[in-house]
Amino acid sequence: MGTQLLARGLKSSECGMVWNVERPRDVEAIHLAYRNCGCDLITTNSFGGSRFALERHGLADRVAELNCAAAQLARVAAGPDGWVLGDVGPFGDFLEPVGDITADELRAAFHDQIVALLEGGADAVLVETMSDPAEAVVGVEAAKACSIKVPVIVTYAFQKTPSGQFRTMMGAGVAAAVQQATAAGAEMVGANCGTSLNLEDYVELARQMVRAAGPAPVIVQPNAGSPQWKDGRTLYHATPEQMAETASKLLAVGVRIIGGCCGTTPAHLAAMSRAVKAA
Ligand SMILES: [Zn+2]
Repeated sequence: MGTQLLARGLKSSECGMVWNVERPRDVEAIHLAYRNCGCDLITTNSFGGSRFALERHGLADRVAELNCAAAQLARVAAGPDGWVLGDVGPFGDFLEPVGDITADELRAAFHDQIVALLEGGADAVLVETMSDPAEAVVGVEAAKACSIKVPVIVTYAFQKTPSGQFRTMMGAGVAAAVQQATAAGAEMVGANCGTSLNLEDYVELARQMVRAAGPAPVIVQPNAGSPQWKDGRTLYHATPEQMAETASKLLAVGVRIIGGCCGTTPAHLAAMSRAVKAA
């Protein structure tokens, strides 16, 4: 979603969620491009939709409006057979004791966001790009407090240490991160985005995720390869064919839901969908 909003002219300093009400046809067109290229699940345009994240754009009083609109747009584009994942991204700061925000304050903020996403028609909640398992747990708790029936997915952003281990920015390893999410009640766990992981890294990470997750289905949404920076822009170079090959490998190691994060486009997802559905 972020990749596509930027491609349509959003400035990286701007709040993309405003487009849910000011440029809804653009957001809808992005959803439809994904839905029509073979995606069964589409994700709402609400990554920075908590009160704390919206506050940075002076929009803290529009949580309900912008999140409900996000879910409504995705709901229409998904159609009766598609799933809408209500997107909840990091609140953008640190929980106590490192930062100033308490778990109770964050739970209330996530709760307000998720209420609006469910009201707008989300089928499940995707707590994504998490670095701190404690924040992920708060996200799961907030979702379950909204509805015990709503499936909750937690995905973490990993990086690779010099010794070759996968760790979140906050230092959590794969097994611990997975365990905390499922213990809190997440039905599905996995990884998305990440820092400078190449496509083979995602396959190895997926292998470790599947092992750690036990019976919980695993979801992986890789970036389109490791990013490169040129003229102040972030570029992702993996081709649709390379992403399709990666998708097949993810499926083979036991991943059950496959998508794409930064740099992936409908062309990438179309190739990935074809590869997965032919398997
Ligand atoms: Zn990403």
